[in-house]
Amino acid sequence: PKCGANYAPLSPITFLNRASKFYANRTSVIYERTRFTWQQTYERCCRLASSLRSLNIVKNDVVSVLAPNIPAMYEMHFAVPMAGAVLNTINIRLDSKTIATILRHSEAKVFFVDCQYVPLAREALRLLMDQSKDSTVPESSIPLVIVIDDIDSPTGVRLGELEYEQLVHKGNPRYVPGDLEDEWDPIALNYTSGTTSAPKGVVYSHRGAFLSTLSLVLGWEMGSEPVYLWTLPMFHCNGWTFTWGIAARGGTNVCLRNSTASDIYRSIAMHKVTHMCCAPIIFNVLLQAEPKERGQKIAPPVQILTGGAPPPAALLEKIEPLGFHVTHAYGLTEATGPALVCEWQAKWNQLPRDDQAKLKARQGISILTLADVDVKDLKTMASVPHDGKTMGEIVLRGSSIMKGYFKDPKATSKAFKDGWFLTGDVGVVHPDGYLEIKDRSKDVIISGGENVSSVEVESVLYKHPRVLEAAVVAMPHPHWGESPCAFVTLSKNSAGGTDVDVSEAEIISYCRKNLPHFTVPKKVVFLAELPKNSTGKILKNELRDKAKHFVVS
Ligand code: ADP
Repeated sequence: PKCGANYAPLSPITFLNRASKFYANRTSVIYERTRFTWQQTYERCCRLASSLRSLNIVKNDVVSVLAPNIPAMYEMHFAVPMAGAVLNTINIRLDSKTIATILRHSEAKVFFVDCQYVPLAREALRLLMDQSKDSTVPESSIPLVIVIDDIDSPTGVRLGELEYEQLVHKGNPRYVPGDLEDEWDPIALNYTSGTTSAPKGVVYSHRGAFLSTLSLVLGWEMGSEPVYLWTLPMFHCNGWTFTWGIAARGGTNVCLRNSTASDIYRSIAMHKVTHMCCAPIIFNVLLQAEPKERGQKIAPPVQILTGGAPPPAALLEKIEPLGFHVTHAYGLTEATGPALVCEWQAKWNQLPRDDQAKLKARQGISILTLADVDVKDLKTMASVPHDGKTMGEIVLRGSSIMKGYFKDPKATSKAFKDGWFLTGDVGVVHPDGYLEIKDRSKDVIISGGENVSSVEVESVLYKHPRVLEAAVVAMPHPHWGESPCAFVTLSKNSAGGTDVDVSEAEIISYCRKNLPHFTVPKKVVFLAELPKNSTGKILKNELRDKAKHFVVS
């Protein structure tokens, strides 16, 4: 042992052991008509872990899973590491080719597939087998497939011999996990969502996951017995670590297979939800819901932690009166989820609501267990002045920052400089020390040598009463090199329709009144929907490809 006989490695598994002892009879999981207590969740995880061991899963083997927010997905966050293995949750909206690439790259030994995703998994496995005919890929790279049937309304759909509930049933409820030797051992392998490049594997350690979980529970001021609604996919950075965090607080996980506005409002009313996480784009889903879908006024307010993309101040201002209280966090896969949180200060409560929204739209300060965060000029590695204006790259260091990309030393060495992890995000530091993101470095528009922050232009567009969503990207300009081009969707008009009854000229003139001239979009394109990935991020690369062909008249 590293620090004497009392060395106990930090691991989120301890949260479940503790919950089973001290919160044994509290409800741990709710899904449709299914209910478990913490004692039952603990036993089910022990059973599953022991079954995985009897399937020859050994330390550091990768166990992949393709599933929505169902109880099995939650249980695997404990059971897989309890078996000594590494959990690889796969985004359910990926195409079969990318899933095959992830299965091959991760060398998954077992592949759990939810019944709804069997056709997608079958196609991915077919591609994987085709690849394995190629002599460079060994036969052993085909994982053992285990289907997860719906626990509440079984479908009978199968893919191979084994089924999740059978494995749980066969396992040993008194299984004792082997001692974790080193808290730096891997607990999860998460592939980046690939918004800006091919997915890369990020290894999370037990230690990093433990510390991040604690930081978030504290940073969000989550008290005991939260009722947490799973709208954020658990496959996104392990649900920003709240998979482990809800066990730490002895809370209740409300699982949902789908999360439409009516599912969300219904669950809030039925289970008295206190907390949920979501991308800012979900605010629009909640705002656009019909009054009958919304039901009764929500009281007390539901605490929302939002992040994953910049939340426009105009949206923050609109969502809170509906019965939500928002906290804003910023993070990325490489940082085990959130790394910054916009910690609220009591003195801000006196400010007018739009000023509060502007403060809340800032990404904030480092979470408690991060060693440090800074905004630097990457050429000199000097920190930018705290003037709220000078832009630089956001850099991070600490235990919850990945050590590197899995089997990718080249990408790893590019991701770090002088021990700092380079986020690829451009931001400023305000005089009070709070950080604000201005753009992803790839999304910055350079017009006549000046940097235009697409986030700033978008925040003005979101203030327009008819704009529902906005994304600003670069389009070629014969004189300025690049100039901003806006893609927008419209909210319902007074007659309840979404006809384009607002003109491009009107939007441009609205921007002129509220933005410096050179940052005003030269073109506005109305779309019925903006392209997004499964975590609600607008796919700017797709929009940029469209805008490449636009000609400025
Ligand atoms: P991918 O990089 O593949 O999109 P991630 O989920 O790791 O997958 O995305 C992290 C990125 O999301 C950050 O680098 C940043 O650009 C953006 N992001 C996350 N949270 C925020 C936020 N609160 N405000 C602005 N941008 C954010």
